[in-house]
Parts: sequence; structure tokens; C-alpha cells
Amino acid sequence: MRALSNPRDVAPGPIPISSVQVGFDEEQLVLEVLRSGRLAQGPMVERLERMFCELVGSRHAVAVSSGTTALVAALEVLELEPGDEVLTSSFTFVATLNAILEAGAVARFVDIDDDFVMDPDALEVAVTPRTRVIMPVHLYGLAADMNRITAVAASRDCHIVEDAAQAHGARVGDRAVGAAGLGCFSLYATKNVAAGEGGVITTDDDRLADRLRLLRNQGMRARYEYELAGHNYRLTDLHAAVALPQLARLQALTDARRRNARRLTAGLKGIPGLTTPRELPDRSHVFHQYTVRVDASATRTRDELAEALAERGIATGIYYPRSVYQYDCYRDHPQVQATATPRSDQAAREVLSLPVHPHLTIEQIDRIIDSVRSTFDA
Ligand SMILES: *Cc1c(COP(=O)(O)O)cnc(C)c1O
Repeated sequence: MRALSNPRDVAPGPIPISSVQVGFDEEQLVLEVLRSGRLAQGPMVERLERMFCELVGSRHAVAVSSGTTALVAALEVLELEPGDEVLTSSFTFVATLNAILEAGAVARFVDIDDDFVMDPDALEVAVTPRTRVIMPVHLYGLAADMNRITAVAASRDCHIVEDAAQAHGARVGDRAVGAAGLGCFSLYATKNVAAGEGGVITTDDDRLADRLRLLRNQGMRARYEYELAGHNYRLTDLHAAVALPQLARLQALTDARRRNARRLTAGLKGIPGLTTPRELPDRSHVFHQYTVRVDASATRTRDELAEALAERGIATGIYYPRSVYQYDCYRDHPQVQATATPRSDQAAREVLSLPVHPHLTIEQIDRIIDSVRSTFDA
């Protein structure tokens, strides 16, 4: 591993918001693929799928080309009719919304709770007879309230597609995210498992898994025998080879994220107007992002904090600056049904993500804490 282990190498240099470290194991596996001459989907992809089955506890895992195509494919195999609705969180990355549109469904939105994920009370009110799919997002790595969401889905006869792009390994009780229906993961370069690009769909349903495999490969069962109009959503063995060793060390990487988050939370206690992210007893947080709120009672604005940290070489992120549908390109979109989502609008004004990635040193974390405290004179 190319180490950041010597603190003199890093302090007081810039602290990035995310950092991927691929080492010897990834290099060996990528070399193995290159030397095999088999660059597209092959045995590495199969190994990756087996590891996702283990991670999620699902019968099947189907690797695809991205988290976005995972979401599109998951919706497509549910064979929605035009006008069918997918209910998702109003506070998410735009891929969640774009996937719904690509699959031909109508997107409607459920406001978030204090922890930035779909509010089950708001969900109960939002379900209509046209709702076919409920698509919670485990934002920042915090598992949404799947017990209540699953109960609503069951009572209203809806499917569940989980957007777990940011939540590899998060759990609700003893169940992993991605196990409630169709689970969609991303392997994009900044995610908790990073292949560059890539995605995975998990499910216990044999028939859906079979259709996902067809859909991924032009709808082809045997050579040039097409059963449905498909896509090229295949993942390459090169990408799978980059993801595999990270998946093997995922627990350690997640533990490091949690450790970093807890140190940040302890250090940022008691700053007026600043709220740190909660960890809940029964829904685990894998800290894809560590996101604080800066509300109107703070002595500096969110944007002033971001600027002050940038001046000290500390990168931050605003995920996300608006509720997902509040852009001109969605305003008159026939498949987008906007409703008022005041809590996600407020979050968009207040959130700031601080570095929490597993390769931070204690010195870097303490520098982040000191910089935030001094910005607020706290
Ligand atoms: C990254 C992400 C996606 C899309 O994944 P890609 O691999 O980038 O296509 C979808 N939803 C959320 C919440 C994400 O963070």
C-alpha cells in the first residue's frame, strides 16, 4: 500500500475529501487479468458477485457497469407500466432520479428526516395507488429505516429497490442493506468500494436475477438467442479486479471510517449551530460521508466554514446543494412530479461534508477539528 503512514508526508498538506488506496493485491489481480487476455466480463466478475452475496446475505448478485445502470436494470426487470410511480428520497444524488426516468417511470419524492434519509411517516402519506416501487437511499452510508419502509411496501404491495450506492456493508439490525428487495451498489471511484466504474444488484429472487443477467448482456441467453430487448451493462474483469481486494478489506476500511467519524464527533461537540451526524443503535452508518449541519444560529454560515477550511487546505463537499428535482431540466419534465420537501430544501442549505475517509491520520483529523473550532471561535 502506498502509505500516508508517515505524518510528515501529509501534514500540513492538503486533506482531500476522499482517497482511494490501491496496493499490491489490486496490482496483482489486474496483472492477472491482463495476462489472461480476458479483459471483459469473466471470472473476476464472478468472484465479485460471490463476495457481494456474502456481504449482503443475498442469493444472487449481478455485477453491472455502474451504480446508475444497476438502478435502471433493477427498475426495468420489475416491468413497470407507463405512469407507474417510483417514490424516492428528495435528497439524493441525481443518478437516483435519472435512473427512474431512464426506466420510463414517474418519479415522486418523499421528504427526509433529521438524519437525511427517507422519512417513513412522510412515505406513508406519499404512497398512491400508482406507486409500484419505493426506492430509499442510504445517504452518506446511513441505513434508512428499512423496517418501517418494508412494512409500508408490504401493506401497499410495492417493490423495494434500495439505492445502496453509498452504503456497502451498512446494516439494519442483523440484515444488510440491499437485502430487502433489489439492492443497488456503486463501485464508482469515490465510493466505499472503488473500481473506477461499476455497480452490483443483489436479490434473493431467482427469476429477477435471471432477467437481470439477460438484460445486462443484450437480452441474450445462449449465443445469439435473444429473450428480451437488453443492454450492454456488463462490468469488466479489470474493474472487478480493482474492487475485489477492497471488498476483502471492507470491514477494516469501514471500521477506520467509523473511528474517524467518532473522533470528529467528539472533537466538534458543543459548537453552537453545528450538528454532527448521529449513529443509531439499530441502523449502522458506514460513513461514506461525514456530514454536519450548520444552521442559522451558528456564528458563521455553512459557506463561510467551507471557505475557511479550504484556506487551510481541507477539502469539503456540499452533498447536495438542492433537492434533487429542483433544476430547470426537471421542472416541466413529464415524468417528474414535484411536491414540497421543506426538510430536504433546508438540508441543502445546511450540509457540509468533512473528510472521513479511511486513510486520514489522527493528526489530520485533529487539524480538521481545530480548524472548524477556530472558524467558529469555539
Ligand atoms: C454514486 C451514486 C449513484 C450512481 O452510481 P454510479 O456508479 O456513479 O453510476 C446512485 N445513487 C447514489 C446515492 C450515489 O451516490
